[in-house]
Amino acid sequence: MEPTPILEISDLRVSYGKVEALHGIDIKVGAGQIVTVIGPNGAGKTTLLTAIAGLLSNVSGTLRYHGKLRLDEEVEEMVASGMVLVPETRELFTDMSIEDNLMLGAYIRRESARERDGLLKSVFQLFPRLEERRNQQAATLSGGERQMLAIGRALMARPKLLMLDEPSLGLAPRIVKDIFEIIANLRRSGTSILLVEQNARAALHVADFAYVLETGAVSLQGNAAELANDPRVIETYLGLGARRAT
Ligand code: ATP
Repeated sequence: MEPTPILEISDLRVSYGKVEALHGIDIKVGAGQIVTVIGPNGAGKTTLLTAIAGLLSNVSGTLRYHGKLRLDEEVEEMVASGMVLVPETRELFTDMSIEDNLMLGAYIRRESARERDGLLKSVFQLFPRLEERRNQQAATLSGGERQMLAIGRALMARPKLLMLDEPSLGLAPRIVKDIFEIIANLRRSGTSILLVEQNARAALHVADFAYVLETGAVSLQGNAAELANDPRVIETYLGLGARRAT
């Protein structure tokens, strides 16, 4: 049986000035699922996530989150209702400590100090490396640690739907493996995840369902395991030997 959708988008169109970047996208994320959107540079993946998060202005279509229509809401309201984006740029407050960066993530939910401490503890359990460096400035972190901090900060807002924009970008394969293990664990703890990735192999491996986005439109969709065996996906996104590796 299909899980109840936490997010349902239909006919989503986004324009930058006169140029349309997304041409009518239909996407569904089932509660408790990892859904991935893979595709090449410039396909519109970041545009899709930022439009869903309420960060863009020229957007049309319908967006249902927890069954309610919500395309015109403010970003703060979307975050408060559990929709949290980890942007590709991993914007951190680099002159602040790791702990303060994390605490800022909880700010929008107006948690009590006790709840914030509890959340911090659970993030440190997931990322012991951040705990070891809790008083260090964020500027001193490695690429992988920055990604952990960006995800950790999102978790401080208690996401129900976590949206990740290319979490593997610029990271060494070993670190990518760690990050994807964390993503799989988050799903196990009940968070629904919308994962945008250029690393199709890693994304299809961890996801339940997948969409291929090309030049602003969905060209293929299906169960992630099935798509990983689709000759069109293998040829364009996975290369030779894909079956063995995934
Ligand atoms: P990448 O993997 O390189 O980040 P992407 O799939 O995330 O690519 P987008 O960044 O969403 O793609 O870009 C989709 C299209 O929209 C591209 O043609 C891009 O040039 C255009 N675009 C993105 N942001 C803007 C902007 N702020 N103003 C004008 N055009 C934009």
